[in-house]
Amino acid sequence: MVTIGSGFILHEMGHKLLAIYYGSRARFIMWTQGIVFMFVTSLLGFLFAAPGAVYIYNENIKPKQNAAISLIGPGINLIIAVFFIFLSIIAPISLHFSFLKHNLPGFGIRNGLVFVWEFGAALNLMLALFNMIPATPLDGSKVFRYSKLIWFGAILILLAAAYVVIGIEAVISWSIMLALAVVLSKLAFG
Ligand SMILES: [Zn+2]
Repeated sequence: MVTIGSGFILHEMGHKLLAIYYGSRARFIMWTQGIVFMFVTSLLGFLFAAPGAVYIYNENIKPKQNAAISLIGPGINLIIAVFFIFLSIIAPISLHFSFLKHNLPGFGIRNGLVFVWEFGAALNLMLALFNMIPATPLDGSKVFRYSKLIWFGAILILLAAAYVVIGIEAVISWSIMLALAVVLSKLAFG
C-alpha cells in the first residue's frame, strides 16, 4: 500500500499538477473496468494495474510542455525509488510472509522477508519503465514522439537505476521489452 500506492498516486499527481501549471484543466478519471480487472488478476496471483489516468484539456499546449507532462510521472517514480533506497539504509523495515518460498533479492525478498523500502524502490522503477514503453496511451509514447533522444536518455537513466537496485536481469529483460515495443510500434504505426 505505502510503496506502490504512493508511487501510483504521486505519478498521477505529477501529471495533473504540471498540466495545471501549464494552464490546462486536468483531472484523474478512474477506469471501472480497469479496477475490476486489477482485482480479478490479483486473485489469480499476479497484478495488472490500470486503475485510471489523468485527462488533460488544453487546446494551446505546446509539444514540449506535453512531453514534459508525460515525462514527469516516470521521473517521480525514479525520485521515489532513490528516496526508498535512502530509507532502506537509514531505517530498514522488513515484514515476514510465511508463504514466500522463493528469494527475489533484487526486489528485497529474501528468506521469507520482504524488505519494504527495497521492494518499493524496485516496484517504482518497474512502474517508471513500464510507463516509458513507447506505445499509446503510455507516457513513453508521448515522450518518444516528441524526442527520441530524450526518450532514450530517460531509458538509460532508468536502466542504470534498475541495474543498481535490482540487477543485470532487470536491465536485460527491459532492454528486450523496450526494443520489441519500438520495433512493433514502428511496424504497426510507422
Ligand atoms: Zn503516467
